[in-house]
Amino acid sequence: MIRLLINATVLTMDASLPHAQALAVKDGRIVEVGGTDEVLWLREEEYEVIDLEGRTVMPGFVDPHNHFSIGAFETLWADCRSARSVADVQRMLATAARETPAGAWVRGVGYDHQLTGVHPTRGDLDAAVPDRPALVMHFSHHQCVANSHALAAGGIARGTPDPVGGEIARDKTGEPTGLLFERAMSSVETASRTAWETRFTDVARAASARYAALGITAIQDAAVTPAMARRYAEARAAGALAIDVSEVMVGSRGWFERPDDAAPGALKIFVDGGYRCAMRVLRDGAPRTSGFLFYGREELASLLLTAWRAERFVVCHAIGNLGIETAVGAIEDAVRAMPDGPARVRIDHAIFLTAELIARIAALGVWVVAQPSFLYDRGSVVTPDRATDDSILTRPFATALRAGVRQAFSSDYPCGSNAPLIGIAAAVTRTNRHGHLAAPEEAISPATALEAYTLGAARAAGIADIAGSLESGKRADLLVLSSNPLECTPTELASIRVLETWCGGVRSVPP
Ligand SMILES: [Zn+2]
Repeated sequence: MIRLLINATVLTMDASLPHAQALAVKDGRIVEVGGTDEVLWLREEEYEVIDLEGRTVMPGFVDPHNHFSIGAFETLWADCRSARSVADVQRMLATAARETPAGAWVRGVGYDHQLTGVHPTRGDLDAAVPDRPALVMHFSHHQCVANSHALAAGGIARGTPDPVGGEIARDKTGEPTGLLFERAMSSVETASRTAWETRFTDVARAASARYAALGITAIQDAAVTPAMARRYAEARAAGALAIDVSEVMVGSRGWFERPDDAAPGALKIFVDGGYRCAMRVLRDGAPRTSGFLFYGREELASLLLTAWRAERFVVCHAIGNLGIETAVGAIEDAVRAMPDGPARVRIDHAIFLTAELIARIAALGVWVVAQPSFLYDRGSVVTPDRATDDSILTRPFATALRAGVRQAFSSDYPCGSNAPLIGIAAAVTRTNRHGHLAAPEEAISPATALEAYTLGAARAAGIADIAGSLESGKRADLLVLSSNPLECTPTELASIRVLETWCGGVRSVPP
């Protein structure tokens, strides 16, 4: 059957035909885009005409940096994002513990130490969950707090040295407090998810429907362990994924570790930390560095070349200016040995930039995948290191575009808000959830933001041949919106509703 969507305002993201009134869908593909009259000519023996009465149609959103295999479990784990005190975290974990099946770790997600005042300690968690391992993840997903059972299960004791690229927080007597940074959390974090992951097919079914309701039709899961890669294969075989998901692989020992045993496919390399990313700053006129840097330039260049020779695409996580400088330098070095390298690598996050780094990224021509969602969630948060150095530009979306950087958008969910329209609104207004403005001179237009979350994102994800724009031959991944994002006011962008989502021609209506 052919379906003819007519009388719409179609934003195609196709430069050769940016605006249209109608399109035709058959066998999951777009077969025509154009005027209502010409599309109506395509009526076949079996057809359906859908009169959209002027509503806006656009391509489904593509999210090239999302953590679906974490976010899918959110309904099963304690949601600690709203915790305003350690007592709140304790109450949330104790409640979750009652629902946690035997053999699984109690998990909480998303606490913000700036809201709770202090980080919880192992003792706080022991009081809430005394009888088995429990862990609560910081909103950054780069640090967590473990209770005593969890620390013991992860082999972390008083005498355990800090791993390279991580830190075990300790009290004055040298006893671990439960707070673990970056690579120090690898063992407990990995163990805390193992039992839950057996339920992936079930949660993935519901989660992919939630994603579709937000208008997301294709994502890349930005950190998939070998165990999760097997779970993805099961979920796909069961037909549980309502949206297009591709995987970016990490190793089995933990997200931030060297990905030596990653499953085949695109490879993720964490170049620096998250909340404690690698920074190079001037403080009181003197240079200093801070945060966690996981590789030197030379080692990273050699990892890149090994991956490229194995035909792997590489996603480099780099947040701090020192992390980005290391990634850019390593890519420059590797490209000298393999000139087609820029097509095989991208830099994700790239939050703390400088004019010099922006110029080098533009010269390399690699994609940068940025997260306007972070602007919305915590646009006003400035840590001391970042405030003292005027040469550091924070999420400089407009400057990067003017310099010629290929910039796509994503959410990094659950580290940032999942809804693309929230991210797009933040990129346009530079306003966070509390109404605070952050570097308004870095605002970009709605049209540019939409493209960065559709065609740009599809290009960064390597799926632009099938997704990202409404063109004949591409997959029928499209949205019907309650209003036109190019005509509403910037403050209205975040409240546009997704009325219909079509994934590969399969139509769903959000609840
Ligand atoms: Zn991420």
